[in-house]
Amino acid sequence: MSDCVFCRIVARQIPATVVHEDEHTLAFMDLGHVNPGHVLVTVKAHAENLYELSEVQARAVLPAAARVARAIRDAFQPAGLSVYQANGKAAGQTVFHYHVHLVPRHDGDGMALSWPVKNPPREKLEEYAAKIRAALA
Ligand SMILES: [Zn+2]
Repeated sequence: MSDCVFCRIVARQIPATVVHEDEHTLAFMDLGHVNPGHVLVTVKAHAENLYELSEVQARAVLPAAARVARAIRDAFQPAGLSVYQANGKAAGQTVFHYHVHLVPRHDGDGMALSWPVKNPPREKLEEYAAKIRAALA
């Protein structure tokens, strides 16, 4: 038996409150609920993070997340919806099986994301972009 909690949920070895399922994804209520309607969308086959997603998984996740997000909007009419996905401990990932949080948002709900903007000069942005383009090549 896998010790990955999300693999065990996918295999129905431990219970979860599932809201949507297709060939490659499973969406279920987050036990660590931030606001009513908080759902996790995960891939069925184990992939630790975004870097490890197959092309097929990558193509499946966003349509599933968008579909569930529209259902959350219709069911809860939140003022907003945050989409959160972390890769690695430093990014805040705590379950190392790829998943996307869909979090309905309301004014004053207490959820916060620090966004420490550094505003580097354009030359720095060009330097960073060149590194990414080189890695893409
Ligand atoms: Zn897993």
